[in-house]
Amino acid sequence: MLENKNSQRTTLEQLGEFGLIKHLTQHFELTQASSLKGVGDDAAVLDFKDQKTIVSTDLLVEGVHFDLSYMPLKHLGYKAVMVNLSDIYAMNATATQITVSLAVSNRFPLEALEEFYAGVAQACKMYQVDLVGGDTTSSTKGMLISVTAIGVANEDDLVYRSGAKANDLLVVTGDLGGAYLGLQVLEREKEVFKVNPNSQPDLDPYSYIIERQLKPEARKDIVELLDKLEVKPTAMIDISDGLSSEILHLCEQSETGCNLFEDKIPLDPTVISTAEEFKMDSTTIALSGGEDYELLFTIDQADFPKIKANPNLTVIGHMTSKEEGPHLITRANTKIALTAQGWSSFNK
Ligand code: ADP
Ligand code: MG
Repeated sequence: MLENKNSQRTTLEQLGEFGLIKHLTQHFELTQASSLKGVGDDAAVLDFKDQKTIVSTDLLVEGVHFDLSYMPLKHLGYKAVMVNLSDIYAMNATATQITVSLAVSNRFPLEALEEFYAGVAQACKMYQVDLVGGDTTSSTKGMLISVTAIGVANEDDLVYRSGAKANDLLVVTGDLGGAYLGLQVLEREKEVFKVNPNSQPDLDPYSYIIERQLKPEARKDIVELLDKLEVKPTAMIDISDGLSSEILHLCEQSETGCNLFEDKIPLDPTVISTAEEFKMDSTTIALSGGEDYELLFTIDQADFPKIKANPNLTVIGHMTSKEEGPHLITRANTKIALTAQGWSSFNK
């Protein structure tokens, strides 16, 4: 989009800041009863009656969190929203509104921002959240995106990182490692393209993991499923940095240890085959890869019958006492200390 010389390029100066905001936000409608005032005044006005309000923000920086040479702007808009909604769902809450703030250099034409907002709009529609504000400014270099997500929950339904107890089951949604390996494939093709711009890569075998990287979905469905199954997790977190670091957060804040079983970690066949191709260990990738945006939670053992038949949910271990500490039980049945980098074979 940025490099396409044939596409229309309207400079941002032509519109001015207010014209730009109006242009980008004009087709967003308010759908939530709690959205009293959205874009257009000094601030948005929300009304959650007697429920609790949940707020989460993320900042994404070009060159650090995303690379526009393979990330289409529409996908980036979608993903920027997903990253934030995932945090709301990790509280067992319902996401209701977002704000989107942007800083862009003059290298970005209006059409590029339209693409970005098309992704934001699709995310809003799919996940039933309202865009209620933001800020727009210029940057000297590159693009910065900050999304704030707002949600709602009954106080009794909220799930923190701190509620896990020894003997609770450790459960993960979906499968892990795909987003990281998708990124490795995209990085490899970028290098090939630099050497030979006419190369036509066959990315079909990698479509699942590339989609995991470029178009992740936040697990709204899991919050709804848990409600339907009448299971309230004792603790929950979303997997943005990799399984091991998120498990360590749960252990630390809940003051527990855990036993994670390597052979239980859910992996898609594409993850296994691509890891082999890259000569990487698929367990290490699942533990340290990140960006999977799945949910990791603990439940009381008494709730196991309610979740055991569900293909979206995998029991990967259980919590132990704090004194026992966090461990990985390998396929070879050795017990090793779990570290933030994945796992260290030097301990024990
Ligand atoms: P202020 O000068 O008070 O910061 P702005 O002119 O920046 O106000 O914003 C005017 C309105 O447009 C506000 O409702 C603001 O939340 C909204 N807005 C500004 N930028 C964006 C954006 N990038 N996306 C969505 N809404 C925006
Ligand atoms: Mg402003």
